[in-house]
This record gives sequence, C-alpha cells and structure tokens, in this order.
Amino acid sequence: PYAGPSVDEILAKRKNFLSPALFHFYKKPLNVVDGKMQYLFDENGKRYLDAFGGIATVCCGHCHPDVVESIVNQLKRIQHSTVLYFNHAIADFAEALASKMPGNLKVVFFTNSGTEANELAIMMARLYTGCNDIISLRNAYHGNAAGTMVATGQSNWKFNVVQTGIHHALNPDPYRGVFGSDGEKYAEDVQGLVDFGTSGHVAGFISEAIQGVGGIVELAPGYLPAVYKTIRKAGGLCIADEVQAGFGRTGSHFWGFQAQGVVPDIVTMAKGIGNGIPLGAVVTTPDVAEVLTGRSYFNTFGGNPVCTAAGLAVLKVIEKENLQSNAQSVGSYLKERLTALKDKYEIIGDVRGRGFMLGIELVSDRQLKTPAKAEILHVMDQMKEMGVLVGKGGYYGNVLRITPPLCFSKQDSDFFVDVMDYTMSKM
Ligand code: PMP
Repeated sequence: PYAGPSVDEILAKRKNFLSPALFHFYKKPLNVVDGKMQYLFDENGKRYLDAFGGIATVCCGHCHPDVVESIVNQLKRIQHSTVLYFNHAIADFAEALASKMPGNLKVVFFTNSGTEANELAIMMARLYTGCNDIISLRNAYHGNAAGTMVATGQSNWKFNVVQTGIHHALNPDPYRGVFGSDGEKYAEDVQGLVDFGTSGHVAGFISEAIQGVGGIVELAPGYLPAVYKTIRKAGGLCIADEVQAGFGRTGSHFWGFQAQGVVPDIVTMAKGIGNGIPLGAVVTTPDVAEVLTGRSYFNTFGGNPVCTAAGLAVLKVIEKENLQSNAQSVGSYLKERLTALKDKYEIIGDVRGRGFMLGIELVSDRQLKTPAKAEILHVMDQMKEMGVLVGKGGYYGNVLRITPPLCFSKQDSDFFVDVMDYTMSKM
C-alpha cells in the first residue's frame, strides 16, 4: 500500500516549491504511484488504462521487466559519463540503433532530451552548409531551448525572447490546410520561402512526419519528397524529428518519415527511445558527422551506460514482442472503431493518424471547424473518472491524442472506445 503524501499535500508542495507555470488537466489531479505495462495506478490502487503513455516516452510499457532489469544491472556495475572512458553500453546501443536506420545514417550522437537532440541537429546543418536559414513548419514542436523554440511553430510554446534564423512554412495539414491533402501544393510554399526569404541557399529543413504536440497532424502525402528535393537543391540538409513518431509507433514503419518514402540527412529521437529514461539521439551520415570535429563537443551524460543499456533493452523488446506490428494491427482496429464514433457524434470533426499515434479533433461546428475547447476537458475528465487516460493537443487545444504504450491490446482499444462512447453520449 501507498504510504506517501496525499494529493493535497503534493499540490501544496508544488505550489510552494515548483514552477508556477506547471499545469494539470484534471479537476481532481491524478497521483500516479505505480505503473505496469499499459496501466497506471493511483494511491488507492485504482487502475487507469494509459492511452497517452507515448507522449511520456513509454513505448514498451510502464516498468517493462526487461528494461528495468537492464537498467538495474547496469546501475549496479557502473554509472558514469562515457565521454572520457570506454564502456561497451554506448557502443552496443549505437550499433543497434544504426542498424535500424536506412541509407548511410550510421553515426550516432547521444543527448539527454529531444530538445538537445534537435539543437544539435540544427547546429550541424548550419555548420555543414555554412548557412543560417532553417525552414520548419507552422504547428511544429521541436523543443524549448534557444534554437528549438524558434523552430517550434506555435505561439503558445514561444516566449518573448529574440528568435531568429527560422522561416515557418505553410502546414501541410489535410484537415485545416488550404490545399487539403495535396502535399505537392504545400511544398511550393517552401520553394517560395527559399526564393523570397533567403539568399537561395539554406541550412536545412526540419519536420515531424506526424505532428504530435500540434494535434496528430500527418503531413499530406507527397509533401516530404517534394520538399526534400527543394531543400537539397538549395544546398540544405533534411532533418526528421522522430521524437514521437519513431520506434515503431506508426505501425506501418519503424520511422515516421518512411511512410513518405524519403531518407533524411539527420534523424533526431527521444521519448520512446528509453521507455521513460532521459535519453535522446541524433543519427546522421559520416560526412555530416565530421562537422563536430572542428571543435570540442561534450555532453556529460549523453550516452551514459545506464541510459544506453535501457535503450538497447527497448530495441530488443520492440523486436521480441512484435510491438511495431501490434501498433499496426491494433492501431488500425482502434482507428476504425473511433471513425465509427464520428458517425454518431457531431462533435467529432476528424479522426486521423496511424498506428498508435491517433487524434480526434473536437469541433462545435463541423462546417466552420470551430474548436470545442471546453468540451475536450470535460471528455478527458469523465474518461479519467472511468479509468481511462487520454491526452490533448493542437494549437487550439481541441484534439484528443491517443499515443498508448505499444503493448496496448484489442481489449484495451474496446474499453477505450466504449468509455469514450459513453462519455460523449452523456454530453
Ligand atoms: N520534438 C518533438 C516532436 C516533441 O514532441 C518534443 C517533446 N514534446 C520534443 C522534440 C522535445 O523533447 P524534450 O521534451 O525531450 O526536450
């Protein structure tokens, strides 16, 4: 049994000693004290089905025994910085990760977060090309440090500090975008930015394949091939941010960008890579990797033994438990059931995504696509009371995000949809 402080006591400590900017979604905050695979448990032992674990980086399942064992075993032997001394864990994981990449992407740099990975990727693109201009998408999320906050394309994640060096292209958003699902049309905007906003040469382009924080927006088909062509013609590098879509989550592919048939020059990752352990990575070609030999580059805990042991265990679990194909089959089933709900409830404007990266956009008027901002909080709260956790995102905060651990089952999907159906029927 749980003997720790109550929710109210934790709330008081948060108020006094933690950031005043912290927020939570629920009327009655949820105190998670245990986790097991796709389930979380509160202080009273009440079980919650976690349909949002993916955002919190859990890909194999909470406290997956294989991952925990690898972490504990490594921790008992040695935990240190691997910058100065040799250790096999970083080398083993780098080799295993490189084997999952297409093309000549085989040099790995480790970081501690997605923000750090994207900061490094952007810097490498600038160094490699000798250019400063980067193009990213409106509605993107790439991090919250000096460079990545600029690349992030949503005002609610940007602080009022100097932000330069990035151009934001039209978002190839099939639901809200002006060109619908015509990826090539949106790509013309990138050509326009290169032609009219830069010297004609750029450092690169960065994007997610499915925008996560932006509300599960899968880039219109044909977009990335056209944009990558434009960027490479302008001398730039193409960066794929796989922080959310990577590691088999999209089901159809191991990496999100593969659905568009492109091969990036740099790939960044975090979250799922460590199943909850702070770990990020940048993978690039030997040619691009050379740029970091010009100066000393040091990251104390990037690639430390414990985190890379966790990363290697995660890759093994994904393979051993066929998690990518589970994301494909169960994700498709879940999407089908959610799409059926759309016929029943006017408030559902769109059901989209791939595998276990699904979104439901709530609107109060289907024609005008008016964001249903208040209703979404009600849905989340009611579902939580019934033991189901779902996320939220999108610029207007009106998209339910479903990114469960990849072990989410068909039964879990049925329970999820039944609870959502019941909640909506009472609205
Ligand atoms: N890229 C994407 C696509 C993300 O979703 C996030 C985090 N939401 C980041 C980068 C930044 O990762 P971190 O929070 O680990 O810095």
